[in-house]
Amino acid sequence: MSSLLKEKLHYDKTFDCVQCGYCLPACPTYETMEKETHSPRGRINLVKMVAEGKASVEDLREPIEKCLGCMACTTVCPTNVQYGAIFEGAKQVVDDESEKAKPRKLMEDFFFQTFFPSSKWMNSLGNATWFYQTSGLQKISQQFGLTKRVPLPIDKFETILPSMPSPKERRARVGRYVRKRPSCAKVGFFKGCIMDSVFYKTNQNTMELLLRSGAEVVFPKQQTCCGALHAHSGKVDHSIELAKQNIEAFEEEGFDYIVSNAGGCGARLVEYPHLFEEGSSWHERASAFVSRVKDISEVLMEMDGLLFEKELHRTVTYQPSCHLRNVQKVTDEPLALLKQIPGLTLRELERPEFCCGSAGVYNIVNYEEAMDILDVKMKDVCGVKPDRIVTSNPGCHLQMKLGVEREGLSGKMDAVHLVDLLMEADPQPKY
Ligand code: SF4
Ligand code: SF4
Repeated sequence: MSSLLKEKLHYDKTFDCVQCGYCLPACPTYETMEKETHSPRGRINLVKMVAEGKASVEDLREPIEKCLGCMACTTVCPTNVQYGAIFEGAKQVVDDESEKAKPRKLMEDFFFQTFFPSSKWMNSLGNATWFYQTSGLQKISQQFGLTKRVPLPIDKFETILPSMPSPKERRARVGRYVRKRPSCAKVGFFKGCIMDSVFYKTNQNTMELLLRSGAEVVFPKQQTCCGALHAHSGKVDHSIELAKQNIEAFEEEGFDYIVSNAGGCGARLVEYPHLFEEGSSWHERASAFVSRVKDISEVLMEMDGLLFEKELHRTVTYQPSCHLRNVQKVTDEPLALLKQIPGLTLRELERPEFCCGSAGVYNIVNYEEAMDILDVKMKDVCGVKPDRIVTSNPGCHLQMKLGVEREGLSGKMDAVHLVDLLMEADPQPKY
């Protein structure tokens, strides 16, 4: 096999795996699919075999396409195997060389190169959805089952989308939010693509929370998609271009923090230095960028500037985003914030580390498998009997809403982003 293929597959990194199997109980696809090839150990073995010419890229395709990229395996691995790099390399090789991967690749190319990097496209998508929801088109479409005719499971998701803001509301957003009193920090807000298109109101609430906490909040216009979906789909070169654009966009203002409210995006941002050669100027700039990247929950806890005035008599559980937990390593802050809300009862899941099955576009391209994983998650959720599930990532948010519907619990349970729940509790500035 060529040394180039070995390099692309990160062959050298596969030797860090000692085949101990500690990662098997942590892997959702191993649990639900019950195949060694669909476990972290099995996938690493396959990558090694492909690099050595003992298996074909086609043998690797399905196990890699069915991996969630949740990184739960990396948190339990005693030898610190860099599964993320091995996975991304394998995805790229599968995309480049497998004929059967071509239809998926074409679809991903279209979405990832056209939609996600473009604020214009994402805003248009949000505005089109607003029109669809408010013009009566959605009712007609549901009545005649039009979305069921689309090849992707769009019909499953359209009913759980939040209501969109009007185009006028979107246009009214300003680029800078300044307090009347002196600010304790200058924050650059990373808006994300799906977050800003579909969860626009959560983004507005995030900036409002930061402002009330004592920060000046700036919304750099040149920022773009974080590149997470591109990297997880093997489009590493495109993901590097997006990383450079974001680093430049946030360099000018000298921010104390760069804040994200989506686990998937935040996890990608903190990985930017790995995209560049050590010692290069881009590596240096990426490292300076990452030193300021924080999740909203970390910054709110660090600034400690809010007092929650309204009692919320609800019982909640917290479903952490895998990337927030396993890559950004943020675990305690969301729970600490929830504990500050008066009247709220918090019941923790037995297996919070188990992925919900959303994983970027996994639940769209691997719908059946994602639903099997979601069913395991919902069993845990139902065990603690909450009336709300608190999330920290747009994909998890929609997936948990879908889980509530699948369990027939609509009206008795709902899903909410942490930020929106905090806003419901009427946070007031402490200082
Ligand atoms: S825990 Fe780590 S070393 Fe052990 S089998 Fe899994 S990936 Fe390999
Ligand atoms: S990233 Fe998640 S789904 Fe993939 S091998 Fe690791 S634990 Fe399993």
